[in-house]
Amino acid sequence: MAGSELRYDGQTVVVTGAGGGLGKAYAVFFGSRGANVVVNDLGGSFKGEGTSSKAADVVVDEIKKAGGKAVANYDSVEFGEKIIDTAIQNFGRVDILINNAGILRDVSFKNMKDADWDLINQVHVKGAYKCARAAWPHFRKQKYGRVINTASAAGLFGSFGQTNYSAAKLAQVGFTETLAKEGAKYNIIANVIAPIAASRMTETVMPPDVLENLKPDWVVPLVAVLTHSSNKSESGSIFEVGGGHIAKLRWERSKGALCKADETFTPGSILAKWADVNDFSKPEYPDGPANFLELLEQAKQLP
Ligand code: NAD
Repeated sequence: MAGSELRYDGQTVVVTGAGGGLGKAYAVFFGSRGANVVVNDLGGSFKGEGTSSKAADVVVDEIKKAGGKAVANYDSVEFGEKIIDTAIQNFGRVDILINNAGILRDVSFKNMKDADWDLINQVHVKGAYKCARAAWPHFRKQKYGRVINTASAAGLFGSFGQTNYSAAKLAQVGFTETLAKEGAKYNIIANVIAPIAASRMTETVMPPDVLENLKPDWVVPLVAVLTHSSNKSESGSIFEVGGGHIAKLRWERSKGALCKADETFTPGSILAKWADVNDFSKPEYPDGPANFLELLEQAKQLP
């Protein structure tokens, strides 16, 4: 891959939720590296209440003052087609989509209301879908596209009080893995990140000394690498990133139990092989389901 001075001249980058936090850091970075930037932000509270054009305007001004090119868009990501349209109307193209916008509606599952569940899914799942769906025909036509979707440790591992957010964030993983598969033929690359950074979203749940070491700027370099034209093969991957640490996560399959699929196959036959179900001593790292046809053949040979 190219060196540290990656540039994006002539390309258009759409960053959703770019009025603050991580999105602002991405937008300012791309603006400083030659890209045209669409700074999208609805400008509401971190719980998804209210709207304001100020959040996006401030970032556009900052990019322009530094000599970059940027335009604001104030639509909710639920109307992704309007955001992509802003890119096309102003810059004639879209090359990179950073699905970053997000909100929280934390509440224990016992107290979860449909409104908390629905709003989180509207913004994170439908929002990412609508933006990518609107960009997709452009990506396919020009045989070029780079997508970053934003998951979270809460989605990958679970997190108390965040069932709605966890479900919506893990959805980004499946979404990205499929976009990567469907996009491969058209030079469309999609990756998903689980970031950790100081922002209004985390400032109430982490102590100040920890937050000091988690600048949003330190998530930017990975996003820069993954969305650059020099990245031709890293796609469909899950990254954990924050505070200068970058790691990849992947699925792991245990040895697994193989039972004869006939009348002898009972709950007891699984329990008898429970150790094999849990045996990760020689794992596989699959990017698709187990080969069931082959396993069926093997099972037939069992005594
Ligand atoms: P943030 O609150 O600073 O930024 C999110 C931005 O999205 C805000 O500016 C907000 O106005 C905007 N937004 C919210 N709903 C929108 C909508 N419907 N349409 C357009 N814009 C909307 O928080 P952040 O920490 O920078 O979060 C960025 C992303 O990273 C989110 O998807 C979040 O879930 C994810 N994330 C952050 C962390 C972290 O440690 N900060 C951890 C895991 C995941």
